[in-house]
Amino acid sequence: MNAFLKNAYQSHHALEIIFSSLRWFFLVLSIVVFAVQYVENPVEWKLLLFVLLVLFGFLYMGVSDYYLHKTPEGSKMYVMMTKGGPFFDFVAFSALVPLTGGLESPLFPLAYLIILHVAVYWRFLGGMIAAGFFTLVYSIIFFLQAEDATSIHSMINYSSAVFFLLLIGGLGGIIVSRERQHQSKNSLLVEAANRDYLTNLANHRSFQECLRNDFDQGKEFYLALADIDKFKSINDKYGHVTGDKVLRQIGEIFTTVLSTKQGKAFRYGGEEFALILYYKEEAEVKELLAEIKQAVASHVFLDNGEAFHVTMSFGSGNQNGERPDLLVEKVDRLLYIAKNGGRNRIVLAEVG
Ligand code: GH3
Ligand code: MG
Ligand code: MG
Repeated sequence: MNAFLKNAYQSHHALEIIFSSLRWFFLVLSIVVFAVQYVENPVEWKLLLFVLLVLFGFLYMGVSDYYLHKTPEGSKMYVMMTKGGPFFDFVAFSALVPLTGGLESPLFPLAYLIILHVAVYWRFLGGMIAAGFFTLVYSIIFFLQAEDATSIHSMINYSSAVFFLLLIGGLGGIIVSRERQHQSKNSLLVEAANRDYLTNLANHRSFQECLRNDFDQGKEFYLALADIDKFKSINDKYGHVTGDKVLRQIGEIFTTVLSTKQGKAFRYGGEEFALILYYKEEAEVKELLAEIKQAVASHVFLDNGEAFHVTMSFGSGNQNGERPDLLVEKVDRLLYIAKNGGRNRIVLAEVG
């Protein structure tokens, strides 16, 4: 139940599945309500209209469920069918309520549900506009049906119904907007907590989490640690501001190269980077690291118009069932070998 609620809080898709299931439930309920009323008071044209409405409902709901489950979230048809849902509901409601007792229809509270659904997408304004439409439908039914629409009793009934419709629209919209704001602040915080400010790569914390998750899921991957060669001398020669620019541009190079590959780059700390590469073959990893190493080495860095180059050393080994911290230690030793071997090189562990 908890997982179900959490899912509904966080995803539009889960919420749409709830609305779609409710629609089927209310279709069945409408059939029951109509059948009971029809047995008491059979009116031919009402039956015909109701059957048409139910057929239309089946058709619409079948098609919309197809797109809800079979097309990717965010695709044009998915968005059209889910956002179009409340419009269908409004039309169905406007026909259903007069057919099932008008003001006394047990299905009238559906209006609140549909208004809330609108507010999920179009917030306060949407909620209020939807409430306005339902007020219009309610008013038409009310003035056609009420025996003495101008009596105090009728006016109180009418005003309180309209008041509740508008209240649901307004409050629903406000609550949804508040939640959205809260959610976007939250995701900004999560993003800030996981991203390195200087290089815009995922940070050390994110690296440890990713490594732990991949390990727990038994994924096959290579870990690489990359370190800038003689970076201290770059700082000494060009200053820390230029040193920072070098780090940022190296972050960009990693991001660009990996954008078409199966791997993630992290700033491990200082002038060291970590790469998690989802490949099984050592040859593939070798080739990818060579591409990254070459992309860095051939990049022209600038300091006040003066061009300079930077090289990097890499150590890399495959995840071989060892604990994440031991894998990092193993790869760190390989990086050390690369440094001791003269830098500007890749050292790969033997696949164990
Ligand atoms: P090696 O080839 O052995 O790796 O030599 P190195 O000079 O790169 O290594 P060392 O560990 O001696 O120096 C790393 C330098 O990286 C020292 C530190 O000032 C610099 N550094 C670490 N983080 C940053 C940063 O965020 N910005 C800048 N500009 N420099 C940084
Ligand atoms: Mg270092
Ligand atoms: Mg270094």
